[in-house]
Amino acid sequence: MAERGNVVIIGAGPAGSIAGALLSKKGHRVTIVERDAFPRFCIGESLLPQCMEFIAEAGMLEAVREAGFQLKTGAAFLHQDKYSEFCFADKFTPGFDTTFQVQRDRFDALLAEQAQEMGVGIRWRQEVVAADFSTKPVLTIRDENGEQFDLSVDFVLDASGFGRVLPRLLELEKPSAFPFRQALFTHLEDRIDDPGYDRNLIRIIVHPRMHDVWFWLIPFSNGRCSLGVVGKPEIFNQPGLDNETMLQRFVAEEPGLSALLHNAVFDTPVSSLGGYSANVKSLHGNGFALLGNAGEFLDPVFSSGVTIAMKSASLAAAVLDRQFKGEQVDWRSEFAEPLQQGVETFRTFVSAWYDGGFQDIVFYPHLKQAEQKNNIKQMICSILAGYVWDESNPYVKNHRLRLKTLVELCREPGWL
Ligand code: FAD
Repeated sequence: MAERGNVVIIGAGPAGSIAGALLSKKGHRVTIVERDAFPRFCIGESLLPQCMEFIAEAGMLEAVREAGFQLKTGAAFLHQDKYSEFCFADKFTPGFDTTFQVQRDRFDALLAEQAQEMGVGIRWRQEVVAADFSTKPVLTIRDENGEQFDLSVDFVLDASGFGRVLPRLLELEKPSAFPFRQALFTHLEDRIDDPGYDRNLIRIIVHPRMHDVWFWLIPFSNGRCSLGVVGKPEIFNQPGLDNETMLQRFVAEEPGLSALLHNAVFDTPVSSLGGYSANVKSLHGNGFALLGNAGEFLDPVFSSGVTIAMKSASLAAAVLDRQFKGEQVDWRSEFAEPLQQGVETFRTFVSAWYDGGFQDIVFYPHLKQAEQKNNIKQMICSILAGYVWDESNPYVKNHRLRLKTLVELCREPGWL
């Protein structure tokens, strides 16, 4: 294989642009094939500090910092009169303490522009419709005029997000172990006038009656925010109600949220997305690897999507660079397994969120004392900041056992 590889990446979302930039910086020829024209809407606006490491690695930190996005310093959890705050500066793992809450149309366009400046070619409005990996990889592409042509390459990185191009074409799809959940969401002019409200925090609010139903409130820097509600599909089965009315009814059921948004202007259509959790039989094969959501997507609750997408891009770019240099590489032990290690930690936390255990930890009144005693809150904070690949954190290394034990302790009256 040539030292200078010829790579096609499907999709110019965060996974595609970061992988493209990293490979281009190492001297490889990279073309991204993107179905849409940017800017385009995408859900997933709250980043985690861990993803700043990959933005920095790709040489895009300055551009992202200067773009005027809303700073994010932590996460606040609310349930009725219970409030709990995690400040990323308190986290156990060294690294970035802050990140941003971004309008994805602007953010994704910025990353793609940065990748282009580093030499990545982007074919806008072209869609990958077929793939043949029987010998050298060949992709069939349809352009905006409906014309089809073939592209022969050395390697394909599928970063097509929920498009899930190669999982569909190569029959790699595997159902997620998480049940079908749905989200209703919109952007609005929030007009929040509560002096105690901190725009630097994402708010995760548990529905007062249904513990597995939750809202996100993600403020932007322009007086607007992203608002969404997540639950099982049956709660959205309300015949005769449109999405706008339904979302407003859910908000009205949560007194704290409706007080906060009492002046809000709901000026954007409400969208609905369901069944987003997805998995694959394998994250790589002969001539390809799957990045970000094209591989596995867990759940929106801990805002892990963009961070996992960028981590997969970083790992894949390093392995592919070595492969092009003629080195012996093992995609399973150098890409899939290290990626999965962090994904598994998130999986444990997502499961514990929906079974109520993690909520018992978050709202445990004495978690602060536990922090002073043995760093527990800081270790949990690291996970919420996305540092799920730091094995020096016991809540990463032994995530299942640690979390199970902590849930039991928090349910024990008088533990602290
Ligand atoms: P994407 O960002 O989806 O990009 C994929 C690109 O591929 C798109 O531009 C698409 O047009 C292109 N494409 C698709 N098919 C083709 C094709 N055939 N040919 C060419 N191009 C193609 N994550 C967070 O980090 N924070 C959050 O707060 C958050 N909230 C979420 C809320 C909800 C309700 C959901 C469902 C997800 C949320 N996520 C969040 C997850 C986040 O949206 C994704 O994890 C993230 O966008 C994945 O990035 P990606 O680069 O893999 O794919």
